[in-house]
Amino acid sequence: LEEQNRFRNEHGIKAVGRHVPAALRDFTDLVQRYNVSQSLVDTVKECGYEEPTPVQRQAVPCMLEDRQIYACAPTGSGKTAAFLIPVLHALGAPQGGPRALVLCPTRELAHQIHRELLRLSAASELRCTVLRNLKESKIKERETTIRKSDIVISTPNRLCYLLNQDNVNINLSKVKWVIIDEADKLFEGSPEQASDFRQQMEQVLAACAGRQRRVAMFSATHTPAVARWCRRHMRGLINLTVGHRNT
Ligand code: ADP
Ligand code: MG
Repeated sequence: LEEQNRFRNEHGIKAVGRHVPAALRDFTDLVQRYNVSQSLVDTVKECGYEEPTPVQRQAVPCMLEDRQIYACAPTGSGKTAAFLIPVLHALGAPQGGPRALVLCPTRELAHQIHRELLRLSAASELRCTVLRNLKESKIKERETTIRKSDIVISTPNRLCYLLNQDNVNINLSKVKWVIIDEADKLFEGSPEQASDFRQQMEQVLAACAGRQRRVAMFSATHTPAVARWCRRHMRGLINLTVGHRNT
């Protein structure tokens, strides 16, 4: 245990919660410890990722053990792969119908996440879609695409807009992971935006009604509003911070 703490300190990782899984020494650890496929680990290395970044060292094992996390790490520290690697492992083979949702504040960011996902899922058959603005006439096509997708990336606005259409039926009951990226921005817009977002989260979580549904939050800064929401809504929460907390 002491050795674990020393290792975390060396990498500037702070982890608070019950039974926090050991941090990763190496991406290769994933094969022995979590039965992650060699092809996923090879793909990660082919992306040029030799060593996990600090947030990846701690967030990946937590998510692979189905633990809900609130992870804060600086911009550019690899948070996207930190949630995509465990999501890709958890989903395994394609089934059709969303089993992971990634929510983020802007469409641009959604496309960035999608690009990273395309690289990391090179060896997998999983399908992914980014929700975007559509003409009314295209909404039915959109429904079909979502039904075939394992992973859906969206802003909360887009997703809730579709969930609120009477003629659209989107089944989120098989969603295993709900990822909130740049949570600070979603929770800390104008008071109006922030309250809209809380309502949207309620709607999304109600729709993702599966018993095994988990939430993971990622953010560059630690904010009390997000921390409070996580404490209230995420059972068995682990708080992760990399570097110093910049509030
Ligand atoms: P964040 O979301 O924390 O701001 P990103 O996920 O956008 O950071 O990653 C920033 C950059 O680091 C990207 O170009 C990504 O490809 C790269 N990256 C991610 N993980 C690693 C890694 N383990 N080793 C090297 N580069 C990485
Ligand atoms: Mg990011």
